[in-house]
Amino acid sequence: MNLDDYRGVWVFIEQNERNIEGVSLELLGAGRKLADKLEVPLAGFLLGHEIKSVANQVISYGADEVYLVDHPVLKQYRTESYMQGVMLLARKYKPEIILYGATPNGKDLASAVATDLSTGLTADTTMLDVDVTNRLLEASRPAFGGNIMATILCKKHRPQMATVRPKVMKALDPDSARVGKIIEEKIDLKEEDMRTKVLQIVNDVTKKVSIADAHVIVCGGKGMGDLQNFQLIHELADTIGASVGGTRDVVEAGWLPHEQQVGQTGETVTPKIYFAIGISGAIQHVVGMKNSEFIIAINKDPNAPIFDVATYGIVGDALEIVPKLIEQFKQLRTEKGGEMSYA
Ligand SMILES: Cc1cc2nc3c(=O)[nH]c(=O)nc-3n(C[C@H](O)[C@H](O)[C@H](O)COP(=O)(O)OP(=O)(O)OC[C@H]3O[C@@H](n4cnc5c(N)ncnc54)[C@H](O)[C@@H]3O)c2cc1C
Repeated sequence: MNLDDYRGVWVFIEQNERNIEGVSLELLGAGRKLADKLEVPLAGFLLGHEIKSVANQVISYGADEVYLVDHPVLKQYRTESYMQGVMLLARKYKPEIILYGATPNGKDLASAVATDLSTGLTADTTMLDVDVTNRLLEASRPAFGGNIMATILCKKHRPQMATVRPKVMKALDPDSARVGKIIEEKIDLKEEDMRTKVLQIVNDVTKKVSIADAHVIVCGGKGMGDLQNFQLIHELADTIGASVGGTRDVVEAGWLPHEQQVGQTGETVTPKIYFAIGISGAIQHVVGMKNSEFIIAINKDPNAPIFDVATYGIVGDALEIVPKLIEQFKQLRTEKGGEMSYA
């Protein structure tokens, strides 16, 4: 394999009914920086059916080029058909880097493509950079139980591939004036050749608690002591119109369901305001919340690692401080006619 044959940074644009997954836009933001450093174009690649209208959106979010494979067999995601589409593009155009969102479909596709192309894949990456001299993607992720950050390189194979967790990278502001190139590629697929059939699509209408999109989160840790004290976290959140989150220890204690866990094995969140109350700040927790805009930490231990990432820190007993905050915020709400605004 001649590594110099491979050029360009590509992002898998995951779409459903022409709605682009947020992580794909975030990856265009991250990919833009990598492509600029390597002085190569940034491309988004899109597979699906009747998806041409999506291409301009991809350009507006930072891509120079969009590779498009449109076919009725690609209407819904299936590993087999999508993999054939990606293989066609990757073999013909030879990108040096391909990024995928670490969504169920993104992870599935990336691992299948890595196997077929006999190349490496770094899963669940939380940081991306490039070594420009050696044109190596530096994909970092927590390793060894989350106790260290490992930077993984793929030195001998191309393309270099990584899946990246949603909400870790930042999308660029869309610019509808941006101009780019759309490259359409034909593919020969037959429905009868597909081993999996989509029989029915059932939309999940159950209302799940999603903290990933919350603007304000009150997150409680084991330092709250017990389930009864943890109600203070709910009360503070109710008072200020926030969502409630917890650490893994809190979830394991049964104080919150797993959907509300923040961290490496829970949700990655990027709210405007994040209260970390009675939370030590273990690396596995911090990777899931460190990109919040304002972090307010309350901990009785002045040396707790959470203070290293906090914008404001309050050293003291949460069981004394939180009731006072609730009282103050209630008063503020009354003064503001019942509204809390986070503009
Ligand atoms: C593979 C792996 C994955 C993991 N994934 C996650 C994950 O996704 N999310 C996650 O959160 N963790 C995760 N963990 C666990 C993580 O390592 C920590 O154990 C966990 O985050 C600690 O939770 P905590 O801060 O609530 O509890 P503790 O570490 O016990 O911290 C409690 C804190 O509260 C403070 N405190 C005590 N009493 C008070 C009080 N009255 N007032 C104020 N402060 C007080 C203490 O000083 C202490 O700092 C993972 C671990 C591993 C190995």
